[in-house]
Amino acid sequence: MSAITTSPEVHTMANGTYDGFHVAIIGGGITGIILALGLEKRGISYTLYERAPAFTEIGAGIGFSPNAERALKAVDPKVYSVYKKVASTTGDEEDYFNWIDGYRSNEMIARLLIGVDAFQGGRRSDFLEAWSALIPTEKVRFGKEFVSALEREDGKVSLKFKDESVDEADIVIGCDGIRSRVRQIILGESSAAAHPKYTNKFCFRALLPMDKARAVLGDTRTKSRFMYNGPGRHAITYAVANGALLNALFVIHDPNPWPFERHTAPGTKQEVVNAYADWHPALRGLVDLLPEKLDKWAIFDMYDNPAPYYNSGAIALAGDAAHASGPHLGSGAGFGIEDGLVLATILQAADEEVRANKRTKAKVSRCALEAYNKKRYDRSNWLPGATREAADLFQMTKEEWHDEDRENYLHGVSTLYYHIWDQDIDEMVQEAILAFHDQMQVATA
Ligand SMILES: Cc1cc2nc3c(=O)[nH]c(=O)nc-3n(C[C@H](O)[C@H](O)[C@H](O)COP(=O)(O)OP(=O)(O)OC[C@H]3O[C@@H](n4cnc5c(N)ncnc54)[C@H](O)[C@@H]3O)c2cc1C
Repeated sequence: MSAITTSPEVHTMANGTYDGFHVAIIGGGITGIILALGLEKRGISYTLYERAPAFTEIGAGIGFSPNAERALKAVDPKVYSVYKKVASTTGDEEDYFNWIDGYRSNEMIARLLIGVDAFQGGRRSDFLEAWSALIPTEKVRFGKEFVSALEREDGKVSLKFKDESVDEADIVIGCDGIRSRVRQIILGESSAAAHPKYTNKFCFRALLPMDKARAVLGDTRTKSRFMYNGPGRHAITYAVANGALLNALFVIHDPNPWPFERHTAPGTKQEVVNAYADWHPALRGLVDLLPEKLDKWAIFDMYDNPAPYYNSGAIALAGDAAHASGPHLGSGAGFGIEDGLVLATILQAADEEVRANKRTKAKVSRCALEAYNKKRYDRSNWLPGATREAADLFQMTKEEWHDEDRENYLHGVSTLYYHIWDQDIDEMVQEAILAFHDQMQVATA
């Protein structure tokens, strides 16, 4: 990649009119789509490039933490109301996270208040379909696998795709997931951070018919979020599809290296049956509902090899591309949404800065991404380690849990969750704008 050029202080005009920033978003998962919707709301020009022929997500469930909900509202109230339509509500006054000793007693270990109508789940494919319908079709290019980027002397970035086509943008945001090509471009293919590591855990996911799940677990256990803890394994259940299905996730510790090239591999119900064979009958009853053939998913993260920074020149990373973590705190997508909000906010401020003060887009875009990195790095880089800590707590190794241990347990998990959930989204947005203006001051001093 060429060196960053910000020197010629010439206002970017096309026939005397400022032509605005154009942002290339690489990847149309949750992060890329939410970023697109944030830019759409703020009148910033963008193109979203997705390598698949359409927006695709698996049918498995996903839940959005309270901070993610508030961030969705700040991205655009329309985005939030679409989310609320898809999400399954418990209908309860208060929602709790509930932890059960799934191994020995099937009894409650701990409960954590989430809020009212909070941390709702749904099918990933339903959320993605509803959100992506809000993006104007002419702003999306499918079948475009990003391969490389080159920063040019004029400050723009040239993009190259696998089909040999090229394009250009003022700013490029890599939302291309855990195996991000954009991360490789920014940090170098040989950098450790270009290669997330296996966490020695894999999981099975399934959507189970609610009537059958209810017959096994009862009404209460199928209504809100339950986590079943035990040595070397845990499981999570919550309702999706407006209560028609129970999303079930089974996470298994694996001391061996992941033997496959891909992160997913074919698996069987028998593997889950074997893994939970000595667990309490209640949990085994749930396992019995699984279909015979299942996919298994390796859990990789960036804890051992974090990205040292999320930006370089006019290119930056967001979502799993920046800070891939395991699923155990249910917050990876929520952090991608926060990234999208901060980026959209800063890019709006950057756009205003170019218009008001006749700065070059090249200089302003680089300040904008530097401010984004400053605002997001500490919080999001914390997530992979916190998620590992949570998995250790869930997969408890103690033979028996005494009251004192349970108190420590609740303190441990609540500290992690509250750090995520209590993020002040309005303050985050305000601080992001301040960080951008600080950065501009330094750059123009
Ligand atoms: C089992 C499990 C459960 C989870 N549960 C939750 C939960 O309840 N709550 C939560 O907040 N998070 C959860 N997560 C985490 C969450 O799924 C991820 O953090 C989130 O989906 C990441 O979104 P993303 O858009 O950043 O990346 P991705 O979803 O990986 O999207 C990347 C997109 O980029 C595209 N792409 C990749 N390379 C290229 C390229 N070179 N060119 C063009 N396009 C490209 C891909 O096709 C894809 O569409 C869970 C994860 C797992 C594994």
